[in-house]
Amino acid sequence: MQCGTCTGSCGSAARMEHTPRQLWRMVQAGMKDEIFKSRTFWLCSSCYYCTLRCPRGLPLTDTMAALKRVAVAEGYTTDRKSAPFYKAFLDSVRKYGRVRESEMMARYFLAVKNPAVPLSFVPLGMKLMARGKMDLHMPGFGGRGKLDRLYRKVMELEAAK
Ligand code: SF4
Repeated sequence: MQCGTCTGSCGSAARMEHTPRQLWRMVQAGMKDEIFKSRTFWLCSSCYYCTLRCPRGLPLTDTMAALKRVAVAEGYTTDRKSAPFYKAFLDSVRKYGRVRESEMMARYFLAVKNPAVPLSFVPLGMKLMARGKMDLHMPGFGGRGKLDRLYRKVMELEAAK
């Protein structure tokens, strides 16, 4: 329908190469290479605002997530930072039942294999620590291992398809 409500709602649109509305048009036109060479879908923060406001009730956020999954499965590595970030995030959730921020970032920095990446996070890290928003010690979490069973079940179901 191309009404643009998704773009008008999206807090990340200004940083995307293509707005969400443009991206959906590209999907309709089958522009696979252009879609996967862009970082547009990686920048979706899954806030669900576009989905909530879409007058056609389209599952836009879930479709952004599907594009991320396809990009990983088909080896589109133009963006070398986003996929490792999502993987580090989900590995942490799988292991602890929630995100353990410091370990997640350590995993991410190791995965990107680029010393410039951790350095680029230093100013943000200092700011967060100064405000007491970042705790470097690693507390135990009660959810440890609980989500792992769920992950394994989903993988079994996916493999059986
Ligand atoms: S779910 Fe993603 S695409 Fe939709 S408004 Fe939020 S950040 Fe933008």
